[in-house]
Amino acid sequence: MNQPMKILLSNDDGYFSAGLAALAEALSALGEVTVVAPDAERSGASNSLTLDRPLTVRQAPNGFYRVNGTPTDCVHMAVTGLLDWQPDIVVSGINHGANMGDDTLYSGTVAAATEGYLLGIPSLAISLAYGSACATESGTPRHIPPRPEYFVTAGRVAADLVRKIQHCPLEAPALINVNVPDCPYENLQGLKVTRLGRRHKAEPVISSTNPRGETIYWVGAAGPAADAGEGTDFHAVATGWVSLTPLQVDLTHYPQLAGLRSWVER
Ligand code: MN
Repeated sequence: MNQPMKILLSNDDGYFSAGLAALAEALSALGEVTVVAPDAERSGASNSLTLDRPLTVRQAPNGFYRVNGTPTDCVHMAVTGLLDWQPDIVVSGINHGANMGDDTLYSGTVAAATEGYLLGIPSLAISLAYGSACATESGTPRHIPPRPEYFVTAGRVAADLVRKIQHCPLEAPALINVNVPDCPYENLQGLKVTRLGRRHKAEPVISSTNPRGETIYWVGAAGPAADAGEGTDFHAVATGWVSLTPLQVDLTHYPQLAGLRSWVER
């Protein structure tokens, strides 16, 4: 009964990231922490699996396992063969930046947690919202700090949630997307359960020229929040609350089933 909790961590910013180190540190008091993370920054990797080449696992000096693959590869591999035990929980993060609204579809942080969830394990994605993510109120001048600061805050929130799941398990394996405002823990308003907001269309790609004279492109920034009203993740974080959104994987647009059926039969 009193087995220590087995906690699997991953992320999309890479095994060397400050957010991952803060998460491992914060959760190490709660159980046995194992880290399996990409060996490079894979933000925006979404749920991709590497199928065109083999994967290798190496152990970093700090004990973290690093994989030359995606966040999804890491959790998939860890749970289905690399580890000879089953994690009690998968925690992904702490992402350097928010994952709210449409971000969740592109996010590798959310994807790593989604993989745990698909394998039947309660899973959390933890992101530290900073800069533009906090300035979602219209008219707010965008002051974007160069990097998030309060990883310790997000680590404490993650520990609070893991402890809660440990003592008061959720009814079914859940996938919870957590966004934490970048501020001291004492300044947080508390936990708020939210739905995903929506963003405006992304900024255009940014073009430039490489040394060979070819045009190259960078994908532009995510759009600002469009649906950021009360009840959304954007609103919660902008007003100092930790946002908790339960996610599901079924993308079926149920209200459109009937309309599509009648269109097919026309
Ligand atoms: Mn990231």
